Amino acid sequence: MSGKLNVVIAQHQGKNPGKRQLEEDIAAALIMEPGLSVSIVPHLYDLTETHTGTLHLRSVSGDLLVLAWLYPRAARWTLDRLGVRGKPGRTRIGAGAAEQNDTSGDDPHRGTPEKPTDARPVPDRFVFCVDLRDVEGAQQVVEEVRRLRDELSTPVVPLTTWIQGSPRPDQMRRFLNGDGTATPPAKPDAPRNGKRNGNSAPAGPAPLVIDDPTPRRWYPVIDYDRCTNCMECIDFCLFGVYGVDDQARIMVEQQDNCKKGCPACSRVCPENAIIFPGHKSPAIAGAEGEVAGLKIDLSRLFGAPSALEIAVQERDRELIADGREAVGMTKGIPKRQANAAARPRDELDDLMDGLDALDL
Ligand code: SF4
Ligand code: SF4
Repeated sequence: MSGKLNVVIAQHQGKNPGKRQLEEDIAAALIMEPGLSVSIVPHLYDLTETHTGTLHLRSVSGDLLVLAWLYPRAARWTLDRLGVRGKPGRTRIGAGAAEQNDTSGDDPHRGTPEKPTDARPVPDRFVFCVDLRDVEGAQQVVEEVRRLRDELSTPVVPLTTWIQGSPRPDQMRRFLNGDGTATPPAKPDAPRNGKRNGNSAPAGPAPLVIDDPTPRRWYPVIDYDRCTNCMECIDFCLFGVYGVDDQARIMVEQQDNCKKGCPACSRVCPENAIIFPGHKSPAIAGAEGEVAGLKIDLSRLFGAPSALEIAVQERDRELIADGREAVGMTKGIPKRQANAAARPRDELDDLMDGLDALDL
């Protein structure tokens, strides 16, 4: 889809001043860029179905760039869960940027193709996700936004169509001046193609800030590009988190039934399709490709018998904490894994431990 590029900054959960500063620097820098609509919402993962930030995200039409403190795959499928969909776009920020520069094929923005299990219609627009941990500074974002905007936008159409359920005006505030105006950054804008935008460039509208409080949450997010609908997760989880939709497709039905800190089902999913974006292990939190110099082969890391043993221990711990009986290997164990549980540790187990130890 062509038109104005929508940039959403999803804030960090904590109050780390460095992270907050980066968010504000990016917002302030993007004010000076024409052809954008910029908004700020709370942390993506904490948004509920009815949160004002969710309603705002759903109301945005057109191409969307989301800057979040999440791995891009985790951000994409968290957005999907919130009902914000589009063709997965690729940026030149973060891991895999070199591969993303490959524009061979008929669609330079294309991401992972849809799996047959995901038959839902995909809106005709791109959704780009950038992990703010990969961002070196506001200027890097500005340059990437310019590139995307220039590639995507030919005709410019009005951005925001406020639909039923959009945030009420009293639930929003404007960035910086609080009165609908924006103060440009004090410093002149950085050079662009040898010229300065300076203050002569027309500034875009002030970013919209939605900052309704959000409690921290913990629940699985399904990557439907990987999911094969095998139902192993629904059998394994004994807490009623999973269900099926009207197309008999697996879904996370009761998000808040999930036990905080427990990632057990992600270890038994044979397709590595279950993401816990807040887990300390990059592989469970949705990383793909290279992390800290290690090429992660997710298909080998997960589903290994040692992972099953850990998952069973984690599940038993939560059952006991709930006042229930531990069930060990007697319930919900995928048949293909049950007989392999006694395999000795190997280098993959060590690699997994090493990734956990990185605590990125
Ligand atoms: S275990 Fe994984 S692949 Fe199987 S249905 Fe659940 S999420 Fe999908
Ligand atoms: S992490 Fe544990 S409680 Fe949460 S959905 Fe998976 S198995 Fe169920």
